[in-house]
Amino acid sequence: MTLTCVAGLGVSGTAVAEVLAARGERVVVVEATEGERQLAAAAELAGVGVETRFGEMALPDGVTRLVTTGWPPHHPLIAAALKAGVEVVGEVELAWRLRPGQAAPWLALTGTNGKTTAVRMLTSILLAAGRKALAVGNVGVPVVRAVGEPYDALAVELSSFQLHWSSTLAPHAAAVLNVAPDHLDWHGSMEEYAAAKGRLFERAGTVIFNADDPEATRLAAPYPGAVGFTLRVPKRGEIGVVEDLLVDRAFVADPVEAAEELATLDDVKPFAPHNVANALAAAALARSLGVPSEAVRQGLRDFVPDPHRLAHVDRIGEVDYVDDSKATNPHAAAAALASYPSVVWVAGGLLKGADVDDLVRQAAPRLRAAVLIGADRARIAEAIARHAPNVPLVDIADRDTGAMDKVVTEAARLASPGDTVLLSPAGASFDMFANYPARGEAFARAVRELRARREHER
Ligand code: ADP
Repeated sequence: MTLTCVAGLGVSGTAVAEVLAARGERVVVVEATEGERQLAAAAELAGVGVETRFGEMALPDGVTRLVTTGWPPHHPLIAAALKAGVEVVGEVELAWRLRPGQAAPWLALTGTNGKTTAVRMLTSILLAAGRKALAVGNVGVPVVRAVGEPYDALAVELSSFQLHWSSTLAPHAAAVLNVAPDHLDWHGSMEEYAAAKGRLFERAGTVIFNADDPEATRLAAPYPGAVGFTLRVPKRGEIGVVEDLLVDRAFVADPVEAAEELATLDDVKPFAPHNVANALAAAALARSLGVPSEAVRQGLRDFVPDPHRLAHVDRIGEVDYVDDSKATNPHAAAAALASYPSVVWVAGGLLKGADVDDLVRQAAPRLRAAVLIGADRARIAEAIARHAPNVPLVDIADRDTGAMDKVVTEAARLASPGDTVLLSPAGASFDMFANYPARGEAFARAVRELRARREHER
């Protein structure tokens, strides 16, 4: 009989253990941290006969399969399993294998940035079309919890980690939004990272790719009939933009002549070029399932953006304050910086091995000033000194909770009317904050205090 070891008691690990236990399989969970949350989860699992082993990262005896949610191959537990010849699969791969015969088709997407936004746009479009759909995967709900449920379609957000541990997924359609350096510490190299993203296409019914992104285009090249989406005028077989319209020239009855209007640029929120790309990807995935154009338009109108992604916080003294704390890599920050003409940039954090030179070079004409925080701020300062030497720089060395107040005070001092103070850090938040929402909330709080001070001064 199989014995499955589940790596970690996170949201997905707990889901895997529960789903397998409910199927009568033997499961043991290994978890490093004996925290309050983990102990509570372990107690729940004990109730359904699942043992949790804390602390020791050793492979339990007799294990025939290891399920991980996103641990790296070099993690001692994973490495031990691989060495012992035990099969290692991801939670998503397990979900795929457990899906029932008449399961809902998967519309899957991945990319360095824009996954959550695009998957939520897709879900909104599917719901507008009257399809019973759910956003699953990296976005929050473990896929393993949804595969057995009676949905018409699953909108599946996949990270490079989940794809690394997947080998047989065959989604109805799959999209790659973009590929830029990120998580290189996990994957070991850009080649490995891109290869993980590319695995999504291997068995996909329809391959969809960002034709404006060189790496996504390269990954789609081996697949004849792949559908590109682009911010340019679409060629036959593509989805793109014509003046202020989103236009489909791929999923139409007569692609030789026909083009179908899907929505207008005004339907895309928050308006930024990269969000138009996200909307096109979502539209293409939905259209692959035969969703009508009216539902694409309605779904984009109904879509509510998630917080900390180009979220407008306030306008004080003709300066806009924008929270894009979710920009945890240089590619995301580049998209944000390209969305405003004149920026006081708040950046810093953990760069995870990524390079910021290109980002700063491209953004240089829009930079009015920069306020830098966190662990890797010196690397950003060096890039600014190289590519935008006249841009005023403020270095905030503090790591405490008051640091963001200093950041916003300095940014406000440096900003002129018409500027945007943009928190788009280009790095992860863990050096100073619990997570990116906490960083964004600290920024928003500091902006509210700035407003209160300004009103008090009047
Ligand atoms: P993910 O789920 O891939 O992390 P999100 O939708 O949460 O993507 O957005 C992450 C960050 O990337 C945000 O800062 C957002 O403004 C930015 N972003 C969103 N879509 C894109 C895109 N297509 N290209 C570049 N940056 C993007």
